[in-house]
Amino acid sequence: MKKTFITHNDKETKILGKNMGLELRKKKKAVIFALIGNLGAGKTTFLQGFAKGLGIKEKVLSPSFVIIKKFKIKIPKSGINFFYHLDCYRIKKIKEILELGFKKIITDPQNIVAIEWPEKIQKLLPKKTIWIFFEIGKQNKRKITIKDF
Ligand code: ADP
Ligand code: MG
Repeated sequence: MKKTFITHNDKETKILGKNMGLELRKKKKAVIFALIGNLGAGKTTFLQGFAKGLGIKEKVLSPSFVIIKKFKIKIPKSGINFFYHLDCYRIKKIKEILELGFKKIITDPQNIVAIEWPEKIQKLLPKKTIWIFFEIGKQNKRKITIKDF
């Protein structure tokens, strides 16, 4: 199923992310998200809200030099322990992300994973990946489409 949302500012995008984080927290489900959209479309902003919804206190940043950032999560009786934020913008070859332990990260049921610039590593992504598309509209509007959630 596909859901489409329009947000009018960064706060609304954060709230959308937060609600998704809260929903996952309730569902106690380990999932992989792929966030697609141009620079400045709101992927990181969405994930800031998302992390908040998951109960993470630390701030999620745009990782310009860090490709993989790991956050501890506490969701009682869920088996989920970590949130991984990946930003593949700088990845040139698939090998680079594999060398950072990508396979282990996405196959471990303890992890919730969100990937910015997933296009760069598309062939490594499992079928169950949940795709989120970000489109920039007029006057700070963003169209956010979530597939298969
Ligand atoms: P990305 O990670 O996709 O490159 P960021 O989330 O880092 O994008 O940046 C989005 C930028 O756009 C921020 O400066 C944010 O304040 C601004 N912005 C304006 N309107 C929105 C909106 N509706 N949703 C999200 N961000 C918005
Ligand atoms: Mg970003």
